[in-house]
Amino acid sequence: MITDTYRHKGLRKQLVAELERLGISDKKVLEAINKVPRHAFMSSAFLEHAYENKAFSIAAGQTISQPYTVARQSELLQVAPGMKVLEVGTGSGYQAAVLAAMGARVYSIERHNILHQTAKRVLGLLNYRVHCVYGDGYKGLPAFAPFQRIIITCAVPRIPEALLDQLETGGRLVMPFGEGAVQEMTVLTKMPDGSFNRETFGAFSFVPMLEKRSDTP
Ligand code: SAH
Repeated sequence: MITDTYRHKGLRKQLVAELERLGISDKKVLEAINKVPRHAFMSSAFLEHAYENKAFSIAAGQTISQPYTVARQSELLQVAPGMKVLEVGTGSGYQAAVLAAMGARVYSIERHNILHQTAKRVLGLLNYRVHCVYGDGYKGLPAFAPFQRIIITCAVPRIPEALLDQLETGGRLVMPFGEGAVQEMTVLTKMPDGSFNRETFGAFSFVPMLEKRSDTP
């Protein structure tokens, strides 16, 4: 069971106020952050810190993204209720929960089985209907394509062609793009002629997007 106390709710309100001060203005994003119990997605060692605007370690050497980053990517994604969204990098499942709280129909891929299993269980306990898949984000999910939105929550060293194919015309793909320690938040929009419009939104730092499932020899 996951408990959500008045103290948690109070800390979430403060976090939302901080995100507003940092420039997040989309009310639907702020409402979702206000609703989702981030502490449920973190190891008990960090529970006291769940509503600080910081990234924390999760299993398999990965991280739960900083709330500002989750909010910014969610805002740039421009999701509306009912939209089919693909996330690459389930990690803790927190970003997927925020998108589900905004009414998106979320499909999320993770290459580490332990993270996939844990996120799936927590999302289920909280009644977020996210379709979690243990797989390789470079391949996307052709069986469920096309997607109206795609969000990649790990640093993308090269554009995954399969994901571009699986994006609907008019759809948006949000990703931290770049090979070094710092990446550029990038939004690609698929135009009617099949080309992509590219916009950038500043520097971020993510764990890398790696090839294949972690158990692949
Ligand atoms: N959205 C997550 C962020 C997790 S960090 C959250 O809210 O907690 C990024 C995640 O991307 C890591 O868990 C990492 O294992 C995963 N990842 C990296 N390369 C991947 C790939 N090719 N396919 C699927 N997941 C990948």
